[in-house]
Amino acid sequence: MSMLAIDGGAPSHPGSWPSWPPAASAEQRALLLEVVESGAWGSTSGPLCQRLADRFAARHGAEHGIAMTNGTIALFVALRAAGIGPGDEVVVPSYTFIACATSVLLAGATPVIADVDPEHLHLSAETLEAAIGPRTRAVMVVHLAGSPAPMDELLRVASRHDLFVVEDSAQAHGAHWRDQPVGALGDAGTFSFQSSKAMTAGEGGLIVADDPELSDRIWSLCNVGRERDGAWYHHARVGWNLRMTELQAALLLPWLERLDDEIAMRERFVDAFRERLAERDSGATIVPDPEGTTRNSRHLLMVDLGADIERRWVAEALAAEGVPVDLGYPSLATIDAVASQSRVVPTPGLDARAGRVVWLRQHMLMGGETDAASAATAFERVLGDARARRQLS
Ligand SMILES: *Cc1c(COP(=O)(O)O)cnc(C)c1O
Repeated sequence: MSMLAIDGGAPSHPGSWPSWPPAASAEQRALLLEVVESGAWGSTSGPLCQRLADRFAARHGAEHGIAMTNGTIALFVALRAAGIGPGDEVVVPSYTFIACATSVLLAGATPVIADVDPEHLHLSAETLEAAIGPRTRAVMVVHLAGSPAPMDELLRVASRHDLFVVEDSAQAHGAHWRDQPVGALGDAGTFSFQSSKAMTAGEGGLIVADDPELSDRIWSLCNVGRERDGAWYHHARVGWNLRMTELQAALLLPWLERLDDEIAMRERFVDAFRERLAERDSGATIVPDPEGTTRNSRHLLMVDLGADIERRWVAEALAAEGVPVDLGYPSLATIDAVASQSRVVPTPGLDARAGRVVWLRQHMLMGGETDAASAATAFERVLGDARARRQLS
């Protein structure tokens, strides 16, 4: 076996990876120029934000869409619009971005940090059920990494316990569960357009929902408590200015036309990577999707190293090979800032798996099949070396 790059050998992937976000397309430039020249960029109820909200909702199988500042605020607003606040509990998975817990705290409610399934790392009927207590009013289902959560079983448990279901789809624009887009499978679906996401305007957020009254409350909370047809200084409730701007909508609208192509591109990378990993018997595998997934939108790729290997060393050696990986989320249960204000359920499922997982980021998945092949080579070389030298099984 040739020498690892970390020991002075040649790297498996010497080139660069595509950057993210990509440069603005001709369509984005044209729409930006149009909105700047029209003067409508200053509008608090501009046509582009409304068009984005409508088209994004239709695209995700929902009746209504409301654009807003970001994905964290979208989670907060969805909870507040459902009347969730002090004294209420919201179940969140332990393996997710911290915004899932901080948005619950912002709403004045208590996060319940739940275990995840050790196979697919999503909430399951079992882990959700184990987290529910007498004050639990909602569950935040996260479509992690572009992989839809197992909605059949989660909706069944939620319905039995009368829970409001928020789908955190910040990583799952265009993902499908049983051929249905995510977002409108539960009560409210939230999306983020922060710069790392599959569609981005630098920042931004959006909620899709079917219920007209819920969506009117969401709109009102984002518009200082106004009502859609009400007077400017009539405030029906406490709300805030959480609006998106026309400039952001101008960047996002054209993206709807290319989202499918970009998902297909990332899927081709993942197919090639999976095939090569298997051929080379590296021991690494792609973390599987729950049964019922019909389209993973491939926000990022979670790879199981296959053994309790020294993950930090593996990540360093992979970076030297030109394949930088991420160690992924720490369990929310270990982040004292939120765990100290949450109810924490034991998480044996997450603890069994998360320490073996590394992530390939979305911008890498935008690479071609040659990139996928050299990434798989890097895994094979590094893991082979780790097993041989460190005598790990
Ligand atoms: C990015 C993200 C958020 C927060 O979105 P922002 O727009 O950055 O506030 C929430 N949940 C998940 C799972 C995310 O990945």
